[in-house]
Amino acid sequence: MTREATAGHISAAPAFAVVVDEWFDGERRRVGEATTLRVVDGRIADIERGDRGVELAGRGLPVFRGGFLMPGLVDAHVHLFLDGVSTDPEARAQHLRAPIERLLETARRNARRSLACGVTLVRDAGDRHGINHRIRAEATYAPSGLSEVRSAGCGIRAVKRYGAFMATEAGDDDEIRQAIVQRAADSDEIKLILTGLIDFEAGCVTDEPQFTVEQARLLVDTAHACGRRTFAHCSGPKGLEIAVAAGVDCIEHGFFLTPQIVERMARKRIAWTPTFGPVHFQWANAPALGWSSETADRLRRMLEEHARHLKLAVDGGVPVLLGTDAGSMGVAHGDAVFEEIDRYREAGLSLEQILAAATSTPRRLFGFEHVTLARGAPFDAVLLARSPFGDPDALRRPLRVWRPQRESSSATSD
Ligand SMILES: [Zn+2]
Repeated sequence: MTREATAGHISAAPAFAVVVDEWFDGERRRVGEATTLRVVDGRIADIERGDRGVELAGRGLPVFRGGFLMPGLVDAHVHLFLDGVSTDPEARAQHLRAPIERLLETARRNARRSLACGVTLVRDAGDRHGINHRIRAEATYAPSGLSEVRSAGCGIRAVKRYGAFMATEAGDDDEIRQAIVQRAADSDEIKLILTGLIDFEAGCVTDEPQFTVEQARLLVDTAHACGRRTFAHCSGPKGLEIAVAAGVDCIEHGFFLTPQIVERMARKRIAWTPTFGPVHFQWANAPALGWSSETADRLRRMLEEHARHLKLAVDGGVPVLLGTDAGSMGVAHGDAVFEEIDRYREAGLSLEQILAAATSTPRRLFGFEHVTLARGAPFDAVLLARSPFGDPDALRRPLRVWRPQRESSSATSD
């Protein structure tokens, strides 16, 4: 194939075909016989059973072949401006003080790396500089080589509470309303910081939730009135009770859930992004990070409990997303998706359930018109050499990645 575009870029050809042995549409695995997809002007024109490669090539159409095709992956929780590879706390603190140009370059590199891994869309969960918005604008132009960005802009936290790197403060009800209205103007979703961090030594969230139920309701209701969904940083039963009572649209992290809270999430259709990555990194590197064996045990139990709740949530009908919290210590953009997939496997999820959490479920939550690979949908896809159902490592080495070109963007067209 001589007309191949660089991996990560949309094909320059206005029409081409893809022939695969097997595929996953975003919800279901399709096995049995070869399938031919024809793409015209960035959209799927038709999907036919059988290998029509020779015939279409004869008509001058470029034909791409592979073992497996699936929708582009979605990492539903990242912080583009943070470099997850760096594990030195001093270097990480210094990075937060770096000039905007350097942070932008980090974010660009991370969005580029994500796309190369087959992640065609990331949801940025907050940065105080709004670098996520700027990368979102750059990424609307497909040949940028960046994954598309759904951006929260700057999140909202309570006064003098956790989250300064990703959120600004809102105190009384007026400030809360104002902050939401302001964010709603340019954020795709509104990020709320409802609790603090997990105290790994204590094995729980030690501080009180940042907002009361009434305040959390005001945040969520105001966002909904402005036409925006909310997603909330939240761990620990006290904060989780508030998040569920307030009706946030998606809970991020959600450590220390209970089966009762999971059940209420399912009933209220509250989504969940479990983000195993940062805690798993702490556990896997406990001695090097200076954790005692007791703390390491606590981390392991925390992860096991989290995995049980993940299985319970998926079985109970909670819309579960796959998100890594990339940018956190030890959580690298792009590659972390495969680690997170491993955690979901260990929790007992089927690969079909995992791939849905990483493709169609987030797109549905985000309100996309097309959430699966189907006729008429934008061609947003990853081509693999082999089926991950036979060889899970095949996911790590995409042959080719196509991301959609947004027509509504002000970016230069190609
Ligand atoms: Zn985060």
